[in-house]
Amino acid sequence: MLHRSAQVSEKLSEMIAMSQSGQSEKRSFLGVMFECCKVYVRVYIDPSGEAYNGRCPRCSKTVRFVVGEGGSGSRTWRVS
Ligand SMILES: [Zn+2]
Repeated sequence: MLHRSAQVSEKLSEMIAMSQSGQSEKRSFLGVMFECCKVYVRVYIDPSGEAYNGRCPRCSKTVRFVVGEGGSGSRTWRVS
């Protein structure tokens, strides 16, 4: 079973914290390009605030991005 994890930056964690304390209805998201089906989707953060769980709308392939320090600051990802 394919499983992919990535870390996002400390800066992003701060952004998430700010968004959670401020506007509760506005959830953080990452832009993810599923190369398998050439589909771009927004992946919203898990209610726990620990990870982003995305799924390809066409083939149901799943992807998980764990929120942590020291990772890439990119907000858009490509999944192949
Ligand atoms: Zn797909």
